[in-house]
Amino acid sequence: MSAPTRAKTDEIQALDSAHYMHPFTNHKSLANKGARVITRGEGVYVWDSEGNKIFDGMSGLWCVNVGYGRKELVDAAAQQMQVLPYYNSFFQTTNEPATKLAERIVSLAGDRFSHVFFSSSGSESNDTNVRMVRHYWATLGHPERSIIISRKNAYHGSTVCGSSLGGMTGMHAQGGLPVPGIEHIEQPYHFDLAPDQDKDAFGIEAAGWLEQKILEVGPEKVAAFIGEPVQGAGGVIIPPKTYWPEIQRICDKYGILLICDEVICGFGRLGAWFSSEMMGAKPDLITFAKGVTSGYIPLGGVVVGKRVAEVLIEKGGEFNHGYTYSGHPVACAVALANLDIIEREGLVERVHEVTGPYLAERFAELSDHPLVAAPETFGMVGGFVLMKDKAEKQPFDASLEVGMICRDHCFANGLIMRAVGDRMIIAPPLVCTKSDIDELINRVRICLDATLKDIQSRGWMDAAHSAEVTA
Ligand SMILES: *Cc1c(COP(=O)(O)O)cnc(C)c1O
Repeated sequence: MSAPTRAKTDEIQALDSAHYMHPFTNHKSLANKGARVITRGEGVYVWDSEGNKIFDGMSGLWCVNVGYGRKELVDAAAQQMQVLPYYNSFFQTTNEPATKLAERIVSLAGDRFSHVFFSSSGSESNDTNVRMVRHYWATLGHPERSIIISRKNAYHGSTVCGSSLGGMTGMHAQGGLPVPGIEHIEQPYHFDLAPDQDKDAFGIEAAGWLEQKILEVGPEKVAAFIGEPVQGAGGVIIPPKTYWPEIQRICDKYGILLICDEVICGFGRLGAWFSSEMMGAKPDLITFAKGVTSGYIPLGGVVVGKRVAEVLIEKGGEFNHGYTYSGHPVACAVALANLDIIEREGLVERVHEVTGPYLAERFAELSDHPLVAAPETFGMVGGFVLMKDKAEKQPFDASLEVGMICRDHCFANGLIMRAVGDRMIIAPPLVCTKSDIDELINRVRICLDATLKDIQSRGWMDAAHSAEVTA
């Protein structure tokens, strides 16, 4: 690799802004400052083209669970590419890595599951879910059962169907979304919606919104409910522990299918291979992607429960759906090697028993900072809210974009944290040790202090007041 130079960075930034249209990006404002060029990664760190070493508190985009620089994954890809770089599964053909991976994922998901449908991303997998649940009900003679209920502020991907299932208003505002047949209920965000209500009671009430919607739409028309066990892109929204058991009870009562989108939550991030059962849900379908390969190569899919698989296989005929890269042998080989690492290093147990609880403890300490309200974690995800006045529960004006200011201070101080409005969130690699977590928290504090100073100097939060809050 060539040594970092300003000239090289300038060259890449110029190409970038001239030709590379980024996902979820305002290009005009990016062109003014230039994209940060990430050049390499090792462990929990990435480096940019200026030579800055940055703690990746987001595991890329919630996916680099085993950390950067894992040669085993490189070798698995190289070896599979030499033998069979590609073949499809359309023509009554199959390949060994896909079959082995399907078996392995089913065994991790548990007895209620029997099959895996592969795609290359979370979005595609949720498109598959929509096709699959409607085909399931049509096969059973109930084509009218086609409505899928989701939640506001959910994230289920960015294809037309994925973003329709999702509940992001900004996404729905562009391109005539959501498509018909998808309904949304309010999310279970306690801090925002009912901070003074008992959390468990709120969980039951929030799950009840599903029943209300089912009755409003007509139970005979509802095909499925979809939800992330913990909402990720929406800002790490952790539901009360009463929420998922009540959702399950309601799904059972009306016989509707439950889809748990575990694209973030699966493969150890919450301290379980799949988190839905731990949270009291028994999904019929599980969406996965991201952590299955630790992001080293694109792969996603749906773990199909026996309830659905048996109907589709026995009575469904041909399922007219699939992707060129369904069961891609190289992606599946990398996933198998990734699961080997997670298993061998005991990362799921470590998150559950050691690093998850430690992160929770260290993260909670941040509440002594004048800006930080309601810090909360679950396994290796966490979030808190930046508040103007915690005592008076006064948020910052959204137009000030305080979250973005904080995010920029993080980048400048060697930490990647993400801002969702004024929620600051993390999802560090599962390989984080306790001392990595100490380092992460130290950096978060430095970034928070820089943000506070900046905000005070802009006159958005007076110094005397924030000192008073600290005391
Ligand atoms: C990231 C994400 C998706 C979309 O995955 P892509 O691979 O970007 O298509 C879907 N659902 C959840 C919960 C996600 O976090």
